[in-house]
Amino acid sequence: MSGFKGLAVPGPTNMPFEIRRAMDVALEDHRAPDFPDFIKPLLADLKKVFQTETGQVFVFPGSGTGGWESAIANTLAPGDTVLASIFGQFSYLWVDMCRKFGLNVDAIECEWGTGVPADLYEQKLAADKEHKIKAVLVTQNETATGVTSDVKAVREALDRTGHPALLFVDGVSSIGSIDFRQDEWGVDVAVSGSQKGFMLPTGLAIVGVSRKALAHRPEGGLPRCFFDYQDMAKTNADGFFPYTPATTLLRGLRASLDMIFDEGLENIFARHHRLAEGVRRAVDAWGMSLCAKEAKWNSDTVSAIVVPEGYNANDVIQTAYHKYDLSLGAGLSKVAGKVFRIGHLGYLNEIMVLQALGGAELAMRDVGLPFTPGVGVGAAVEYYAATGQAEALAA
Ligand code: PLP
Repeated sequence: MSGFKGLAVPGPTNMPFEIRRAMDVALEDHRAPDFPDFIKPLLADLKKVFQTETGQVFVFPGSGTGGWESAIANTLAPGDTVLASIFGQFSYLWVDMCRKFGLNVDAIECEWGTGVPADLYEQKLAADKEHKIKAVLVTQNETATGVTSDVKAVREALDRTGHPALLFVDGVSSIGSIDFRQDEWGVDVAVSGSQKGFMLPTGLAIVGVSRKALAHRPEGGLPRCFFDYQDMAKTNADGFFPYTPATTLLRGLRASLDMIFDEGLENIFARHHRLAEGVRRAVDAWGMSLCAKEAKWNSDTVSAIVVPEGYNANDVIQTAYHKYDLSLGAGLSKVAGKVFRIGHLGYLNEIMVLQALGGAELAMRDVGLPFTPGVGVGAAVEYYAATGQAEALAA
């Protein structure tokens, strides 16, 4: 087939040419005397994306999953209790990893399509007079269901109960795309990856660590080596790494940060909100609904769209892929076959979203879903036209 393949999954995202070009370089010596001139500003600039001045950001070869592991292995000991909630495949997998590490997980099972129950967290924290809970887990953006949770509300629950537990946030599909404030929300470990908001290939776990988390080395703590924060902190201080870093990806990361700062974080968040709103208008016009149960849970980086009873969302995904060269996100685990997902994060504009919506309409029509072709695209066009005019005039 000729033409570009459409990538409308919630990560990996579309990679800008500027980033590709930045990575088309010869391999370099990561122990060269001038390597720190590149690394020190890179690590300092990453802190701006995590909105932290007091913490540090570490970059490990790996992916988001490695970032989860780093949070656990650096700060907890076997048998420690962690408080978590499960409302989608990624919040489930993080809990599953905690269990594999021998932690005692108090995991609140929530309906998929809802998010972190901050009120229940508060009750459990208040009841934990002996402070057995050592860490509280929040998946800020559940990519499987298109749900965003309120990290600040969990910080407030910790503060109101005077509970000293560490706060861990999975920001894999939110950091750099949706507002995330490490210092203001008192987040101790914030986990991200390279292949979503950072618009890079997969291959880096990018982790924001507070001073409190860095200093927290419990007696008899879990073993750690590759993901040791203190080793990383020690070598990063001189602009180096404890082992061979993914230098090519780091060159890409430099270009990514330059693009992020050029646009400005606030503008990026606003762009994601507007693009997501167009998708939501389309879903509404199709007469379909989102997996997110209430508007307050709506994610600005991914929408999980529920197909009507009696239809299989995988048919839509397969048709879009094989017939139209468009990748839509699949439903995972409990929502497999029930939803397809449109990722709307990273390097994206109205045209790219309309391509995904148009491709979804083609596939939905082919598999016989009950909707009027064009209504979803039309609703998004109307919304973008109306809101874009104000933007264009202001520019
Ligand atoms: N957490 C969330 C919210 C995710 O969306 C993902 C991946 O999509 C992960 C964690 C796991 O990250 P990775 O696949 O980069 O290991």
